[in-house]
Amino acid sequence: MKCHLCKDNPCYEGNPCRKTDSVPLYDDPVDRKILKTAADVEALFYREACRVDETMEFARRMGYRSLGIAFCLGFIKEAGILAGILEGEFHVHSVCCKVGSIEKSTFGMAERPWIGKVSCNPIEQARILAEEGTEFNIVLGLCVGHDSLFYKHSKAPVTTLVVKDRKLGHNPVAALYCPYIRSELGRPLKERPLEGSSASTVVDHLRGK
Ligand code: SF4
Ligand code: SF4
Repeated sequence: MKCHLCKDNPCYEGNPCRKTDSVPLYDDPVDRKILKTAADVEALFYREACRVDETMEFARRMGYRSLGIAFCLGFIKEAGILAGILEGEFHVHSVCCKVGSIEKSTFGMAERPWIGKVSCNPIEQARILAEEGTEFNIVLGLCVGHDSLFYKHSKAPVTTLVVKDRKLGHNPVAALYCPYIRSELGRPLKERPLEGSSASTVVDHLRGK
């Protein structure tokens, strides 16, 4: 399908261009409850609630008591703020991306002075949250691909609160909205040069170095 080329979107009015037998896809009672709860939160708090509040309301209505936060170490302050808010009514477990401290050399990954030597470990983040028994996991700033592995391996359903975009203030849609940025997209990327680049890591910045 190429819905992005569709002009009138008749499906929105209840006139599908493609006949599907989709209702049985939601026969699983948990899937059905998630689908309905997401729609209820959307409808009832439309433009009233921000994403954090929507996430909490969704969790309340699903009856979740134990929430997980899978965060990037660069978001440790935000993870603490989020956990503090959630802990008012949920049990919260969090696991940072560097848990276990696997060296990047183990996997032959690119190493540069402006990032640490320890690999992200998203499958372990998922495993630990499963061991903690979290019922719903929140992703906070995991990298492209690391998030994919977390989504793939998380035992509990996952929602994303923040996607990482180091260049655009974690707001990747700016690249689509803003023609100045958009016109640059898709060009061959230049690797960051070793010479003349600051060698401080985000963790150095977080620690005031
Ligand atoms: S009617 Fe809806 S589903 Fe069909 S092409 Fe248009 S946007 Fe896609
Ligand atoms: S994995 Fe361990 S060392 Fe790393 S942030 Fe979490 S508690 Fe700290």
